Amino acid sequence: MDSQPKPQILLTRQEIEATVSRLATEITGEYHDKHPLLIGVLKGSFMFMADLIRLLDFPLEVEFIGVSSYGKGSQTSGKVKVVQGLRSPIKGGNILVIEDIVDTGLTTAFLLDYLRKKKPASLKLCVLTDKPSRRQIPVTIDYLGFTVPDKFLVGYGLDLDEKFRNLPDICFLEGEN
Ligand code: 5GP
Ligand code: MG
Repeated sequence: MDSQPKPQILLTRQEIEATVSRLATEITGEYHDKHPLLIGVLKGSFMFMADLIRLLDFPLEVEFIGVSSYGKGSQTSGKVKVVQGLRSPIKGGNILVIEDIVDTGLTTAFLLDYLRKKKPASLKLCVLTDKPSRRQIPVTIDYLGFTVPDKFLVGYGLDLDEKFRNLPDICFLEGEN
């Protein structure tokens, strides 16, 4: 018997599409003449990044960084480390970090601090989903998609133990938060 919990839809693909489009408009307003470098945080942001940049009709560059904060399962380990570094220097660049979700804030706060030390000209944060009820460290989100309840989310890039990333909607798993 399949013991996987069944994903329940929280945000439909249509709601996601509309929100990504709204974010693209906001980002275009600020970055259309700034030739930004968008840094996606692996792996969860890959689908969001792909949809977002297709709507950005101006010169930009794309990078990815890998950070690990979670152990296996849905509980945070509290320890953050860079597991895949940047391949290009960011000194003097206009950096926009693309995150899937901010939960406790530990990962994002660590990452912004790590990037700030590399002396970019500007550093801002775009987040698809925010779970403010679980915050342990304050994080300023410059562009936000959705505020979400304290549930463990999967789909649209988000995983549970590497599964469910391919779901086109953002779903929650009962009993996983
Ligand atoms: P934080 O350090 O803010 O607690 O967590 C940040 C990272 O934990 C996110 O980038 C994401 O990878 C993972 N995470 C936090 N909440 C969830 C969730 O509900 N679902 C999934 N799949 N990952 C989450
Ligand atoms: Mg993750």
